[in-house]
Amino acid sequence: FELERLGVHESVDQVFPSAELSAYLSDLPVDVVGDEAVPDCDAVVTLEHREAFLEVGWVHSVQAGVDRFPFEEFESNDVVLTNSTGIHDRTVGETVAGYLLAFSRRLHEHVANGTERRWDQPAWDDAFTLPGTSACVVGTGTLGSGVADVLGALGVSVTGVRRSGDPVPGFEEVYANDDLLEAVADVEFVIVTLPLTDETHHLIDADVFEAMDEEARFVNVGRGPVVDQDALTDALESGSIAGAALDVFETEPLPEESPLWGMDEVIVTPHCAAFTEDYFRDTGDIVRENVDRLESGEAFHNRVV
Ligand code: NAD
Repeated sequence: FELERLGVHESVDQVFPSAELSAYLSDLPVDVVGDEAVPDCDAVVTLEHREAFLEVGWVHSVQAGVDRFPFEEFESNDVVLTNSTGIHDRTVGETVAGYLLAFSRRLHEHVANGTERRWDQPAWDDAFTLPGTSACVVGTGTLGSGVADVLGALGVSVTGVRRSGDPVPGFEEVYANDDLLEAVADVEFVIVTLPLTDETHHLIDADVFEAMDEEARFVNVGRGPVVDQDALTDALESGSIAGAALDVFETEPLPEESPLWGMDEVIVTPHCAAFTEDYFRDTGDIVRENVDRLESGEAFHNRVV
């Protein structure tokens, strides 16, 4: 297809102002236009899916996760789908480090006490330091590697889980999916960085929480439905794990009545682990690269469909 008009859909406003991206891409040799013109565009940059996108030649997702797009319909309509994998290593790595430091230095507890103006020191043995602790990262892609990198710098010993079990730089040991239960036993932190696919749906279930240490904490920055959230809630309520930090949920926004909101040792963040003021530049660079490649007839970078 001929790329003359590239639209920026208004749904990207949930992550950054769409006008910032349009301005960042204004030097491209194509018209970069706002939301109102999307039906007349040849390509769209978006967060959400719309039926109308099946009419364009190329859709770029500003997220790495593309589970909201209907792959088969894209394929049958000859629509190319690209994603933003590759840019969230440092942001998500630092967010996960923040969760672990909150748990080890008790920061979430102090913030909660502060909202009630309460001066309340933790028990002498509640706080600890990260060197000497270990974390198992399930999913060794961009997010997993970013997490391993930042945690490694904090002295955490990091292992990983991937389908093949083959080694990955930055991970001291890598387990195959088949050995998941063994991998999550005896670590202080289990961290999920997986995409949502048919294969990963509820991959993290009651058996995983059962296999974890009672003192261990669970982190999910991948996608909510990768985790059986009822099993997680049960594990937290029964004390079979010690806490959790969660950025993604089976239903988002997390409903007000969710028991996860009320738990002292659960940190809830609103699907923002990868937020950064640089987001429009990072994702814009992928769009720019693909516009260049389209011009020169090369294959798309980060093509999913
Ligand atoms: P990526 O493609 O770089 O990495 C995904 C990894 O998961 C790959 O290594 C892949 O081999 C592995 N994988 C896929 N299916 C698997 C399976 N069944 N078992 C084991 N491993 C499997 O993608 P990424 O940039 O690291 O992002 C991963 C996911 O994290 C995204 O799909 C998205 O859903 C989520 N994400 C969340 C946020 C957030 O804000 N919380 C931000 C970015 C990405």
